[in-house]
Amino acid sequence: MFTVAIIGRPNVGKSTLFNRLCGRRLAIVHDMPGVTRDRREGKASLADLVFRVVDTAGLEEAGPEVLEGRMRQQTDRALSEAHVALMLIDSRAGVTPLDAHFAEILRKAPIPVILVANKCEGGAGKPGFYESYSMGLGDPVPLSAEHGEGLSLLYEALMPIY
Ligand code: GDP
Ligand code: MG
Repeated sequence: MFTVAIIGRPNVGKSTLFNRLCGRRLAIVHDMPGVTRDRREGKASLADLVFRVVDTAGLEEAGPEVLEGRMRQQTDRALSEAHVALMLIDSRAGVTPLDAHFAEILRKAPIPVILVANKCEGGAGKPGFYESYSMGLGDPVPLSAEHGEGLSLLYEALMPIY
């Protein structure tokens, strides 16, 4: 099945987007045995696109000394099993050094990467949204996972790859 991985540093809104894409189908999969705590899978739909989505987690408890290594591991794994990766940033926080570091890795990724500028509702995300062009991952998709805004733009970015 077409697989979409959601990656990015802690607190950018990965799980919020995962929940938004999976909706109530999540209930069917979230208790599956063998699903490790650092990874959640669900069946998602976005208009007429139906796909498997993988959320990466477990970074929240990682201390600063291991965070980068763990993000690297999860990113490598996501890139090896997905057809496309959604790289999220928190537009309100702007592009952090960790975001920039991972963008460098993702520019060489073997699969397409869609840069998603999350937390874009209202005006507070605008500077971060424009700043994210500097990540070299193409045009960012402005989104608000929490408010469900920008999903049609995400659809337009995914559709040609699907
Ligand atoms: P993760 O660590 O990347 O999985 O991030 P979470 O999904 O747990 O979200 C981290 C925090 O950001 C939570 O407090 C969310 O409610 C908040 N958040 C997620 N998406 C948005 C959004 O679109 N706008 C705003 N303002 N906050 C958001
Ligand atoms: Mg999470």
